[in-house]
Amino acid sequence: MSESEFKDEAQWAEKLTPEQYRVLRQKDTERPFTGEYWNEFSDGTYLCRGCGEPLFLSDTKFDAGCGWPSFFQPATEDVIKEIHDSSHGMQRTEVVCRNCGGHLGHVFNDGPAPTGLRYCINSASIDLKKK
Ligand SMILES: [Zn+2]
Repeated sequence: MSESEFKDEAQWAEKLTPEQYRVLRQKDTERPFTGEYWNEFSDGTYLCRGCGEPLFLSDTKFDAGCGWPSFFQPATEDVIKEIHDSSHGMQRTEVVCRNCGGHLGHVFNDGPAPTGLRYCINSASIDLKKK
């Protein structure tokens, strides 16, 4: 599925739930401990809710205690795009789906080995396909 198939915001609004739309297309953040996957540890692959691209694998998910799904690395390096984000008076690195541009969350440098990274991702942006 190419990005051009989903350029139109009206089409996105039709495809996504209101919450998914606010997060993926308007870069909102769901409230912690409310999402579908913050406490989910089943085996499987987390797909982009916007385009279905495989973004994260369950064996890289860990409990960061922050109330959002947290991963120490993406499924492959080229599925994620990192963007400098200086909104809300903070210096952060936003992560988006490289395929559809959907907002996923942020990446921080306080994760576990082997990467030391914590991809803090909104449940609304991902869809677990269980093994
Ligand atoms: Zn996507």
